[in-house]
Amino acid sequence: MINVAIDGPAGAGKSSISRCAAKKLGYIYVDTGALYRTVGLKFSLCGADTSLDCDIERILADTSVDIKFSNGEQRVFLDGSDVSDDIRTPQASMMASAVSAKPQVRAFLLEMQRKLARENNVLMDGRDIGTVVLPDATVKIYLTASAQVRANRRLKELLEKGEKVTFKEVYDDMVKRDYNDMHREIAPLKKAEDAVVADTSDCSFDESVELVLKIVRERI
Ligand code: C5P
Repeated sequence: MINVAIDGPAGAGKSSISRCAAKKLGYIYVDTGALYRTVGLKFSLCGADTSLDCDIERILADTSVDIKFSNGEQRVFLDGSDVSDDIRTPQASMMASAVSAKPQVRAFLLEMQRKLARENNVLMDGRDIGTVVLPDATVKIYLTASAQVRANRRLKELLEKGEKVTFKEVYDDMVKRDYNDMHREIAPLKKAEDAVVADTSDCSFDESVELVLKIVRERI
């Protein structure tokens, strides 16, 4: 199986670029951030906040997370319900970042990700795909862009969805989330030694997709 690992900070366009590149390659696109967001949603529904002052094991023991693909689009299910749209709020982003620092949560989601990669040609994006989840991936890409550009892209996405947010809120949230993700003890966001860096600060969306495709095609 061909496994393409794409890691990078929030708002680098990983999901939209990866989704489009995967379609062109005929691979399944796996958005692992959605899994952490789903677990985060479960903790919110259980009354937890980002301090996670709760019994993590007990909540996880009573949690089921599933991924299904419909017309090539990933949908995520929490305890049997499709929550793919509910996990896209700024609150869910912060909660995802909080739960993702917990080793029990990372262990809970690890095998599901590896199984998908064993059974399919995948383009999988996240924070630790090239370093932890798929250390033997065929191609590893570290996709990034300047913080200013990333915040602007995220702001546009949220405004289009009708969220009422300002540039400053998006920028501050993003910088905080990146800091958390890069400084946590377990599976921190970092470039794998053998990853190719793709900086899309000056690229249009189409150019970013082409850049990813070029890196993949040169290596498979
Ligand atoms: O990619 P996305 O922004 O949806 O991810 C939400 C959060 O989930 C990230 O900020 C990060 O804390 C966490 N995450 C992770 N490992 C991954 C994917 C996402 O820790 N592989």
